[in-house]
Amino acid sequence: MKYIDIHCHLQFPEYDADREGAINRAQKEEIGIINVGTDIPMSEKAIELAERHENMWATAAIHPNHAKEIFDFSALEDMAKHPKVVAIGECGLDYFHSEPEDMEKQREVFIQHIELANKVNKPLMLHIRNGKDNLNAYREAVEILKGYSRVRANFHFFAGNIEDLKSIVDLNCTVSFTGVVTFARNYDEVLKSAPIDRIMSETDAPYVAPVPNRGKRNEPLFIKDISHAMASIRGEDESVFLPKIVDNARKMFGI
Ligand SMILES: [Zn+2]
Repeated sequence: MKYIDIHCHLQFPEYDADREGAINRAQKEEIGIINVGTDIPMSEKAIELAERHENMWATAAIHPNHAKEIFDFSALEDMAKHPKVVAIGECGLDYFHSEPEDMEKQREVFIQHIELANKVNKPLMLHIRNGKDNLNAYREAVEILKGYSRVRANFHFFAGNIEDLKSIVDLNCTVSFTGVVTFARNYDEVLKSAPIDRIMSETDAPYVAPVPNRGKRNEPLFIKDISHAMASIRGEDESVFLPKIVDNARKMFGI
């Protein structure tokens, strides 16, 4: 593996027409892939893909935006034990897309996921998003982790500030960056100040394709553009930086 995309969704319908093509394009470039589950059917599909492909893994969870729906948590408990499931996620808090009355339910479902991760001793893949009017979901997620978690957690699509980053690093947790680093400059400071052993690369495909494919459907192949941009923003030598972020993912997810 030369690169790794630790958070994408190749099981989504956006790839129904050319899923194997997208997988082949990534595999030719030695890109490892973690397909992230967002509900029960999408977690099952992520596992099916991982079973059929090398250097591909899966995660299982209920996305916070689905927390208020009816779901069978015991199905997740079974999936969590699967050898190709390397994390519990994406779970967490999305205060951007929620009404105040949804937040309590999100916290409850988040804690349920943390307890499952503790039980199977696998890390968490977190989706944390601040609300409007400076409602900080990161601070709250860190407090919940302190109270309940015995495993490490990665904050996917990290969009917090330096202070949030510091509290995450102090908890022995990690953050991952997407294609936005190729076209928005407001992530540069956090990306530069994060310790090198706490950062990873992700596409979040099919969303947020990096330059030069911005606006198109994203895919794991584009992790190359993201990883190279991360090295350049940090001013690091690619020959050191690229293997290092793959190594971080290997350690985090035991792969
Ligand atoms: Zn995602």
